[in-house]
Amino acid sequence: MISREAIVRADKAHVWHPYTAMGRYVVDAAPLVLERAEGSYLVDVDGRRYLDANASWWVAVLGHGHPRLVEALRRQAERMPHVALAGITHEPAALLAAELAAVAPPGLGRVFFSDDGSTAVEAAMKMALHYRHLRGERRRRFVALDGAFHGETLGCTSLGGVELFRRPFADMVVECVHAPSPGSGEDSGGARALEAMIELVEAEGESIAAVVVEPLVQGASGMRVYPASYLAELARTCRAHDVLWIADEVFTGYGRTGTMWACERAGVSPDLLCTAKGFSGGMLPMAATLVSERVFAPFLEGDATFHYGHSYCGNPLGAAVAREVLAVFREERVLDAIQPRCRAIAEAFERFRGLPGVVRTRSLGMIGALDLTEGSGYLGTVGWRVYEEARRRGAWLRPLGDTVYVTPPLTISSDELDELLAIVEASVRAIAS
Ligand SMILES: *Cc1c(COP(=O)(O)O)cnc(C)c1O
Repeated sequence: MISREAIVRADKAHVWHPYTAMGRYVVDAAPLVLERAEGSYLVDVDGRRYLDANASWWVAVLGHGHPRLVEALRRQAERMPHVALAGITHEPAALLAAELAAVAPPGLGRVFFSDDGSTAVEAAMKMALHYRHLRGERRRRFVALDGAFHGETLGCTSLGGVELFRRPFADMVVECVHAPSPGSGEDSGGARALEAMIELVEAEGESIAAVVVEPLVQGASGMRVYPASYLAELARTCRAHDVLWIADEVFTGYGRTGTMWACERAGVSPDLLCTAKGFSGGMLPMAATLVSERVFAPFLEGDATFHYGHSYCGNPLGAAVAREVLAVFREERVLDAIQPRCRAIAEAFERFRGLPGVVRTRSLGMIGALDLTEGSGYLGTVGWRVYEEARRRGAWLRPLGDTVYVTPPLTISSDELDELLAIVEASVRAIAS
């Protein structure tokens, strides 16, 4: 068997890691070298097990290697791994679209497939612009929130509100106005942010193609949670001013906030909804943009054509697995089963408020987060000390700067969750002493 050292040597010589200062990495990083992942655990080449505190960047909602998903993938791989989706259809894509529309917020009956969260958002942006174009309107700008994260393409980067991620591309991007975040620490009720958003839509709606938001929680900017009332009011205001709104449920969808979709908690349906990550159970890249009849209608006129489509659009492997994810949610009643775990996370993070060095905590559904400093953002270094402590104790707890959070697989057992929360507590205590 190839040694850990040989793997790390090849890695450090050739791999460019995401969100990683490579200069420091090649000199002194000791990366986890994983061999397997099963259930809630990552297993390294020496057989050490780590609880996957963030479901591998929020994707593994049903844990790793769920037998039903593995079997669905195997079955489809033997039959038809991939074909194009232009003028061709097949059972996995067609039935997935129907099943997805059936569980989506009401009114989202049309499904466009792509590869990952970024392309789901990129497609939604282009659909909004194309919709305006077909209607002969000059509405070309987007509105997003401070601290927003919507993915990595240039289009998505322009929506992004994390200044650090955006800066190298600031002069390149699509025009986007950023409205105050309703989830920042100072304005936790979101009242002032809502007022600002309403003012913006009322004053400038005529030039806005769409408002894009991560519903209820802004993940990448530090698990900023905000109230459902903000979303309900935003939806109402957009409708009143004929402004489209796009719900980016790439992170929040598939039970992360305790319900299938975050939009459900506000009782609202967006004009477009983006889903990825949990959508294919963390097994392989696959995404969808769900579209309302209103947005789709002009594309049914004459020769109107959305000239957009990725090579792997509707990929049968991804589609077969995504169907199985929905079947597991239905048959194993995943959303009912997580409720006690949501409560355990809420109680633990309520308690963590009293830990030394903790500035504030919050939770929502299967998300718990704590801040170790006052707003030092993504470059904070205290969170990384907790990361090291947690790694020693058997959890992979990658922080967002000085925000330490858990977003475990929804299928994590109560015992595993207790263990994870105990590791969070012990690791935070360890760096304070
Ligand atoms: C992760 C994420 C994306 C980007 O998804 P990728 O699959 O990484 O391209 C977009 N929006 C939100 C809210 C996300 O959390």
